[in-house]
Amino acid sequence: MKISILTLFPEMYENFLNSSIIGRSISRGIVDIELVNIRDFSKDKTKRVDDRPIGGGAGLIMKLEPLVAALRSVKTKESHIVLLAPTGKHYAHETACDYSSKKHLIIVCGHYEGIDFRFEKYVDEIVSIGDYVLTGGELASMVIVDSVVRLLPGAISEESTVDESFTDENLLEYPQYTFPIVFEGKSVPNILLTGNHEAVDYYHKKQAIKLTIERRPDLLKNRVWNEVERKMINEIKTGELSAIEKTALDNAARFLHKYKE
Ligand code: SAM
Repeated sequence: MKISILTLFPEMYENFLNSSIIGRSISRGIVDIELVNIRDFSKDKTKRVDDRPIGGGAGLIMKLEPLVAALRSVKTKESHIVLLAPTGKHYAHETACDYSSKKHLIIVCGHYEGIDFRFEKYVDEIVSIGDYVLTGGELASMVIVDSVVRLLPGAISEESTVDESFTDENLLEYPQYTFPIVFEGKSVPNILLTGNHEAVDYYHKKQAIKLTIERRPDLLKNRVWNEVERKMINEIKTGELSAIEKTALDNAARFLHKYKE
């Protein structure tokens, strides 16, 4: 996959492109990320890229000529062009999945008071990363690149993306734990120590449902629960354990206490 980012501040990407999963994915050839400095396409002697708003108003607006020239310098038949703006449609996991299947994604970052509205005619989509105003599209583009690249084959282990939040039919990820088993009196749930994979899978799913009900009930609006899930919801409400969890805990009872010593 290739991603072209049109920006006035390419220097902001230096660490981002060299670190962690993004840096590794670039060096492994999983993704090619190109930075295009919009200022390079200004025909103005002073390399000006903005001007005052027609009709009055605060701040400066990015001009069309350098933006369109920058876009044309990278656009191909395979390009999908995304303009970043707080007025755009909300970016979400589904959008990241959609972008990860594109051959060439072009992301256009605005700055200052924004971009001449007529530029919207040159793009495929207008996207916002949330209901707040950033100084520029650079951070928003990093959010998009990061969430898309980790979905590309080979970027991270496929297992890591399977159970993540929003992937399993829009549930949040279940709570995870690591060592030590007891920290300042707070213990890892016993069921995770039983070594019974079936019981652990059941518990994980139940906890994912619980967390989603508590934190993001909006994600469950159109969900139709199956029989097992309805049983889990009942157990969440009553605090009762399923037969599979009880058996796993009973079988492990003789060694569980050792972990807590
Ligand atoms: N005057 C604009 C408004 O009120 O909608 C805000 C312009 S903002 C200061 C400058 C640039 O930052 C925008 O053109 C856009 O590219 C980017 N930006 C700001 N907030 C954003 C958001 N929530 N999502 C995506 N891009 C954003």
